[in-house]
Amino acid sequence: MSADRTNTSLDQAVAVGVDIGATAIKAALVSLSGELVESFHQPSPRTPAALHDFVHLVLGQANSPVRGIGIGCKGVIDTATSRVNSLPGDLNFLESRLLADVVEPGDLPLYADNDARTALIAEVLWGAARRKRNVILLTLGTGVGGAALVDGTILRGASGAAGHLGHMTLDLHGGLCICGNRGCVETRFSSRAIESDYLAHLHRAAPTKLSLGNAGQPPSTEAIFRAASEGDESARCVIDRALEYLTGAVVSVLHIFDPEVLIIGGNIAEAGPQLLAPIRGEVAQRTRILLGREIPIAFQGLVGYGGVAGAAGLVFLQQRLLKI
Ligand SMILES: [Zn+2]
Repeated sequence: MSADRTNTSLDQAVAVGVDIGATAIKAALVSLSGELVESFHQPSPRTPAALHDFVHLVLGQANSPVRGIGIGCKGVIDTATSRVNSLPGDLNFLESRLLADVVEPGDLPLYADNDARTALIAEVLWGAARRKRNVILLTLGTGVGGAALVDGTILRGASGAAGHLGHMTLDLHGGLCICGNRGCVETRFSSRAIESDYLAHLHRAAPTKLSLGNAGQPPSTEAIFRAASEGDESARCVIDRALEYLTGAVVSVLHIFDPEVLIIGGNIAEAGPQLLAPIRGEVAQRTRILLGREIPIAFQGLVGYGGVAGAAGLVFLQQRLLKI
């Protein structure tokens, strides 16, 4: 009887997954099968107290036993202590803090990791990379994030910073990056790179179909992709060039990691076929000799709440309720 009770409570167990993004914080009560039992979102917290209150609001909604709290966050997170070692930008107020101190989880275990890694965990447990043991995730958005699963182990590195694939040097003569290096992938392929390149075309009065916004902001990456498909010569030039850089980055990543699948996520993934169709052939041709096969490139299977599900997955993995 006691065994039955244990199984029943495990079946109903949930973990709280939290994804702290630059503009929104999302959370959900997530079951062992990856189902989002209930989900929540708010604008990103701007104080530790706001983060604390949001997590406790979610905890208060749980009707099943909660196994723990998992948090995915940008920056470099020490998974052993939940300390945020480095986090530039709007969430900088969390830098040098222990997320466990901020959240005050009481008796519940709390686990934290970089948000690209939690997104990768979700894909491996429930998404486009199920049952795979060698997987790379690239997130293409404002910046470029990355995470690597190698022989079933998530790469974290000596200080938790491993997998920053967006900061591979792609252009020896490139400009300064947010990370201090020059010519990183994200200085050449990211929304910021694409938008600033289009802005440069506007600035020198090249033929363009889009114009600056009311506040002088450049058109969005989404609008630039659309304009490229509708005959805007400058947009075409910007996107073609960005895709050449993406091709180079993808080829390097495949050569380094030899994965079973490369998963593409992030806001720019919404460009869909316009993003992958032009690069697939070139990537396959340039990796054929070393890798001997065409490596599948797939879009993230869990869109929107993937990071949340993966943060909960981190709890299940740490407690050995699930395994990769
Ligand atoms: Zn960089």
